[in-house]
Amino acid sequence: MARLLDAFPDWQEGRPARKEEVLRCHARVHVEQVLAIHGETWLDLDTPASETTAEAAFLAAGTAIEAARQGAFALVRPPGHHALSNRAMGFCIFNNIAIAARALQTDGAAKVAIVDFDVHHGNGTQEIFQTDDSVLFVSLHQWPFYPGSGGPDDQAETTLNIPLSAGCGDEEYLYAFDHVVAPEVERFAPDVLLVSAGFDAHEQDPLAGMRVSEEGFRELSRRCAALAPRVAAVLEGGYNLSTLPRLVEASLAGFTSESRTAG
Ligand SMILES: [Zn+2]
Repeated sequence: MARLLDAFPDWQEGRPARKEEVLRCHARVHVEQVLAIHGETWLDLDTPASETTAEAAFLAAGTAIEAARQGAFALVRPPGHHALSNRAMGFCIFNNIAIAARALQTDGAAKVAIVDFDVHHGNGTQEIFQTDDSVLFVSLHQWPFYPGSGGPDDQAETTLNIPLSAGCGDEEYLYAFDHVVAPEVERFAPDVLLVSAGFDAHEQDPLAGMRVSEEGFRELSRRCAALAPRVAAVLEGGYNLSTLPRLVEASLAGFTSESRTAG
């Protein structure tokens, strides 16, 4: 996190989410369990927690809300898109982007689209909005891969999964974006588009097997910003600390170049 903040010296501090903001997406039993953590523990096989976890999780969720309201990029950890309504999963405690989407709807946005280009399937976000046709969830991800969901048959009215085989790069991602993601989002016509921006599909990421380049993330971000009148992003994965700052920078450049041309 310090690496990222060093790279963006004009960052603004977020704020912790209020409990009721988190409860719009999570079961009370899960929220209470997070608040009750008083020492080192594991919330699932991949998700360590300690006495600072609750504070970090509320801060990440609140910062995602404010970034979504301001059209900004929330540089937060822990990430959120695997967090299910009733439990933590895969490094994620609260589902930051889902909480941000609900906050925007409370502010008056009728339809929110979420595009998730993290290399992993955003199973938590999908689960939270599965039966809600006011939120479109679109995920591009390596498949089969962790967490296993998001395959070709895992689709619904407002859930679109685009499983991609290991080894895909800019060409395959941009092709899928232009031919599948963009038409679907345009049909949905969201008031706001939120991006689950993970950078673990990068060619130098240690956790996954994709080959997206810095330029590829810039293009994906630019194309996301072209799909709705407002756009904001929330950081998900990205596990190579030496490349993450410039990938975030490229993505931000993509988001803002489009809003400049649109404005
Ligand atoms: Zn990921």
